[in-house]
Amino acid sequence: MRKIDLTNFQVATSETARQINRRITLNFLRRHQPMSRADLARKSGLQRSTVSAIVDELIGQGWVTEGAIGRAPRGRRPRFLHLNVERAGIIAVDLRPEMTTVGLSGLDARFVMQTAWPTPRDPATFVRMLSRTVAEFRAAHPQMVCEGMGVSLPGRVDAAGNLVFAPNLGWPKVNLRREIQSAVDLPVVLENAANACALAELWFGRHPEHVRNLLAVTVSEGLGVGLLLNGQIVHGGGSMAGEFGHMTLDEHGPPCPCGKNGCWERYASNAAAARFYVSGDTARAGSKTVPRFDDILRRAQSGEARAVEALEKTASHLGAGLASLATGLAPEVIVIVGEITAAWDRLGPIVADVVARRSLPLVATRIVPTDLAMQPRLRGAVTLVVQQHFSAPNVA
Ligand SMILES: [Zn+2]
Repeated sequence: MRKIDLTNFQVATSETARQINRRITLNFLRRHQPMSRADLARKSGLQRSTVSAIVDELIGQGWVTEGAIGRAPRGRRPRFLHLNVERAGIIAVDLRPEMTTVGLSGLDARFVMQTAWPTPRDPATFVRMLSRTVAEFRAAHPQMVCEGMGVSLPGRVDAAGNLVFAPNLGWPKVNLRREIQSAVDLPVVLENAANACALAELWFGRHPEHVRNLLAVTVSEGLGVGLLLNGQIVHGGGSMAGEFGHMTLDEHGPPCPCGKNGCWERYASNAAAARFYVSGDTARAGSKTVPRFDDILRRAQSGEARAVEALEKTASHLGAGLASLATGLAPEVIVIVGEITAAWDRLGPIVADVVARRSLPLVATRIVPTDLAMQPRLRGAVTLVVQQHFSAPNVA
């Protein structure tokens, strides 16, 4: 139950009921296609005539296509309906401090085109490069009607589209949504990368339909937490909810780009692993050369003890924080996103052990690594646009 917000509500009209039934129909097709009109009526409980009216409208607007004729023991043979995943072209952007990846996909989050370039040091150059990439994509796939762009980014954007907190990006305050929107001439949705990943898991993950409480933990240059509780992303005041990565564990700990010291992400991130690696090297102690995270992964793979130790230490600190999240929020699932999952055979058991030791036995949270090949952050960016067409309409 949700208390009605008298500063932000929408009254129900006859259109509201139609919209809700239309969304339910679209979701059934998305989940169980191909389906006939009779299947849809049976599954949804809607009257056959209502289903037919909705389906006719969806076909007319290109959302649904009619396919092969099915078999029936007697009577009229049903026509199968499919969701038209090419109805909407979506530009997805995964903005990271070092690298930006841009993809073009349909409603099924399968990418038909993709490219990546080093992230520029200033937002103006970024927007210019992005608009060039979008123009190339559109020229290469003129049949796809681009209808929106989703951007997952390592920080926070306020309701007006201003980049308000992105310590690892190091950009000045800028209205990123307005800048991008005017350059690419598309509606743009910006979201914290961890939130976007949580949404991608909800819409495209292989979790049971009943999973409504899920956290996505992105481990990269920093550490982000996307909170999906009761089936909704929690944004909090000023869109700042989920910054567990910047909880102070030790006021005298290593400095963090956020301006404080000893934040959780200074112990549980790619940067943390690099720091552990360097500090374990007495010959190089004090040296400024920090190894890349994929380099540490490779060294651990080939059995270098110091690299293994740095990763295990990172995993142990990651587990300690996850135990608090599991105990405090009782999510059904925590998904881990990031290069660290490439070593999950070795690190997963360490994380699981720390979580088991530090959390309540009644909390049965599953901790699962995401598959890097599925590009969770980029799929998250697609989801930002997809959910606008498939989620429940906002009423009351
Ligand atoms: Zn911090």
